[in-house]
Amino acid sequence: MTQKQKALRGIVTPEMRVVAGYEGVEVEYVRDGVALGTIAIPRNIRRSFPSVRGIGKGLRTKINANIGSSPYHMSAEDEMKKLRAAVAYGADAVMDLSLGSKLIDIRRQIIAESPVMVGTVPIYQTAFELSSSRRDITDMTIDDFLRTVQSQAEEGVDFMTIHSGVTLQALQALGSQRRILDIVSRGGSFLAAWMKKNGRQSPLYEHYDDILDILAAYDVTISLGDGMRPGAVLDATDPAQITELVTLSGLTRRAWDKGVQVLVEGPGHVPIDMIRENIRLQKALCKGAPFYVLGPLVTDCAAGYDHIAGAIGGALAAYYGADFLCYVTPAEHLRLPTVEHVIEGVVASRIAAHAADLAKGMKYAEEQDAAMARARKRLDWESQTDLSLDPRKARTLRESSGIGKDDVCTMCGKFCAIKRMHDVF
Ligand code: SF4
Repeated sequence: MTQKQKALRGIVTPEMRVVAGYEGVEVEYVRDGVALGTIAIPRNIRRSFPSVRGIGKGLRTKINANIGSSPYHMSAEDEMKKLRAAVAYGADAVMDLSLGSKLIDIRRQIIAESPVMVGTVPIYQTAFELSSSRRDITDMTIDDFLRTVQSQAEEGVDFMTIHSGVTLQALQALGSQRRILDIVSRGGSFLAAWMKKNGRQSPLYEHYDDILDILAAYDVTISLGDGMRPGAVLDATDPAQITELVTLSGLTRRAWDKGVQVLVEGPGHVPIDMIRENIRLQKALCKGAPFYVLGPLVTDCAAGYDHIAGAIGGALAAYYGADFLCYVTPAEHLRLPTVEHVIEGVVASRIAAHAADLAKGMKYAEEQDAAMARARKRLDWESQTDLSLDPRKARTLRESSGIGKDDVCTMCGKFCAIKRMHDVF
């Protein structure tokens, strides 16, 4: 039985207890959320890892870091460094998006070492293997794809992005409008090319039940991919995106009916004024299923600083109800991220998640902010560093000012307002 099937029978699992303990909520709240589908606890039955986390309503906003090799840079060692850095800086999940000849090896190492849930996008492996045997993704059969899903489920992948919502209808909607950027999702582009060449409905839609049967057998959470997501803010909330979202609504229900836990992926580029309606629409159509958003990026013009554009969108999205933020690094749109980019992306997303949780009145965030404010009042630099979301950077900046053990900082020196108020009050 999957976690969802157990929850529907009133069974409390060890994973639900871990989630309840971490969140500081009653275990029945978690069980009811899993039963309803408003909470997902991605954990493959083949894996056991310490930081099991729930994603969804009433829980802390979680963040994911994408790592993985590209055909230009295939180093298992580098990807393992990224995994360790992402976890050290607070990622709740990692997705291995590896492409290239070492992809299976890298994924196995990540699964073996990761203390957090691991996600993948199986169609990447299928596409790579087809191209290695001089076939194209447009030659893919459903058996090619199901073999990949089966092998990754057996290896222990906890959640998989599957783009079953990229259908002929969504393609038709795309054709009926003038998008600036047609499709920016790798998986979406593969399936669009497949349907164009074969003149048929997507096999990932037609054989959705077969996919679900494999996922259910290992309690792998499906992350319904947003292959038609806008890649430009001016394309946001357009017919192609909404057509796919309506399909995802039906696919969510069908997954739940088979006991499969669901995350629904959301748009990548959304202007600030459209974020709230995007979240509300997804939540309404998908009956409260946890919403997993990439960023979202609120401008297309922040190259080199896209982690900031993503954090602005992520904070708003999480405040309005998104549950899971996929980080964006400063390297987004430009290159494969380095370890340092991964750290910057994770910290930016954590700031977004924390800011949203604070505004939603989550106790852990209020306590941390209150402790920081008190440390500032005491001019207690050690505690301020420890309470920072990136203590390493806070410490480096403080120490680099050369002020030694002085109680003020180099900003105002002897004119320190906080110190003056110690004397006044
Ligand atoms: S010196 Fe100025 S900036 Fe630094 S702690 Fe005091 S008031 Fe704040």
